[in-house]
Amino acid sequence: MQQPDLDRPEAPDAGELTPPERTLMGPGPSDADPRVLRAMSTPLVGHLDPAFVDIMDETQELLRYTFRTDNRWTIPVSGTGSASMEAAIGNLVEPGDTMLVPTNGYFGGRMAEMARRAGGDVVEVDAPWGEPLDPVDVQAAFDEHQPDVFGFVHAETSTGVLQPAVSELTSIAHDHDAFVIADCVTSLGGVPLEVDEWDVDAAYSGPQKCLSCPPGASPLTLNDRAMDKVLSREEPARSWYLDLSLLEGYWGEERAYHHTAPITNVYALREALRLVAEEGIEARWRRHRETAGALKAGLEAMGLETNAAEEYWLPSLNAVRVPDGVDDGAVIADLLEHYDLEIASGLGDLAGEIFRIGCMGHSARPGNVSLLVSALGQTLA
Ligand code: PLP
Repeated sequence: MQQPDLDRPEAPDAGELTPPERTLMGPGPSDADPRVLRAMSTPLVGHLDPAFVDIMDETQELLRYTFRTDNRWTIPVSGTGSASMEAAIGNLVEPGDTMLVPTNGYFGGRMAEMARRAGGDVVEVDAPWGEPLDPVDVQAAFDEHQPDVFGFVHAETSTGVLQPAVSELTSIAHDHDAFVIADCVTSLGGVPLEVDEWDVDAAYSGPQKCLSCPPGASPLTLNDRAMDKVLSREEPARSWYLDLSLLEGYWGEERAYHHTAPITNVYALREALRLVAEEGIEARWRRHRETAGALKAGLEAMGLETNAAEEYWLPSLNAVRVPDGVDDGAVIADLLEHYDLEIASGLGDLAGEIFRIGCMGHSARPGNVSLLVSALGQTLA
């Protein structure tokens, strides 16, 4: 007879969940609006329930409003921003395609990595970290490499730079018959973004930045031209889970099972987008600009310097230079410990050189600006 296993450990006693109450002013997530959190605690329904199908339709319509697009192909991808990013790149880049990516920040590097894994060849258009792409350089890169796909980051979270002149970039790409993929993770719902007017073929985002929604269901939109390429690929996308030709069955007309959608995250996204629609997208862009403007003025009054030039300043992510002799890690830890306030350090080329201070969605409020300026002022004193 088998002996009982006397060494088996006791069941862990983890205790009730009591996360600290932070004010989130880092590069994301931002504070979730209480209405979004309430939506997440409403009852589950099945992912094929007719009631959920209506919720899917409404979420897609609200996403179109927020992206400023009529694209039929507008969906939340199950997963974080990297999932919608990989869905865009992994479906539009076919083996043997060439993708042009930027070098001016951390997320251009991630685009390159995803394009390689999709079987593509990667070429680069250079700009220093902290500056946007220059259309002249993009034109030169197109003339030299004739890429099939061009990716750029509209709002670079690692440098606090907003890419201007997007229409100029897309027209260069379209003159060369290439597809344009825009990373809008830190711009959607926070700064002006016009997917249709700027002729962007595919744009992806995340919910946890300017939409102030917990991560889990990530916005993606593709125009018909991009979707035609996806549907006529010679070989299927390498990821089954993110294959848009299969996801079409669930988010398209048929509403057939592909995978179990993260129901609660879709509820949350729907509520976050409803808040965008209630505020009005243009009023929301204005609020971000004004609130972050006050933040920037407060920081500059303390003698701190914004990393990006005024013309490229990204209201949703303020990159501020760490003053000489200051230990950025100690300041960040101090703010968390004494003020329950989260900001972040620099990444990659800017590690140790900047603080990254978000001003996104529900976090973009005057009270948060006052807290941040006074807490940072006292910590640096
Ligand atoms: N792209 C940009 C510009 C981002 O800021 C982020 C996340 O911070 C991502 C992509 C990836 O999103 P996630 O971390 O939600 O997977």
